[in-house]
Amino acid sequence: MEKVGVLAVQGAFIEHEHCLEKLGAQVVELREAADLQTGFNRLVLPGGESTVQSKLLIELGMAERLREMITAGMPVLGTCAGLILLAKRIMGKRSVDRTALGTLDVTVERNAYGRQLGSFNARADFAGMEDLPMTFIRAPRISEVGPGVEELGRVNGLIVGARAANQIGVTFHPELTGDPRLHQMFLNL
Ligand code: GLN
Repeated sequence: MEKVGVLAVQGAFIEHEHCLEKLGAQVVELREAADLQTGFNRLVLPGGESTVQSKLLIELGMAERLREMITAGMPVLGTCAGLILLAKRIMGKRSVDRTALGTLDVTVERNAYGRQLGSFNARADFAGMEDLPMTFIRAPRISEVGPGVEELGRVNGLIVGARAANQIGVTFHPELTGDPRLHQMFLNL
């Protein structure tokens, strides 16, 4: 049985839990360091506010252990802010920030679509899935992928997902579209 740890310190974690449970997975919420001992074998990092999530992960003493688990090969799906946590490099408006986990060799730019295009929906072929619906909310873009990282798809010319071995990061919210295919792909990793 797949037991998925869903980071639940901030953001859109409940929607991920519903998607995963519909697909038959067991879910455990990760709210504090003790929750990292619950024996989950997959990890979801939801969307939300990456600066808040990053700060909480460090303050709650969860960042280092999660980084070790991912580096050791635990499958992880990071969506939107969750992708930002995974990214090795963040291009800010003014500076390059450090990230809480930094396990995925990509560069992301936060809030890449500007205020006017804060939220929008799109459909595109993605990671071998045809016409996947995507919801973007103050989304980042992936501006660069490192060697060994596979680009999974583009919308309007911008990279919206990347994968390296056990890590999948997407700039959109797959948990809000009602389409289970990306979560299924994650559970099959
Ligand atoms: N803009 C948010 C951030 O930088 C991400 C938005 C989201 O997760 N929907 O953290």
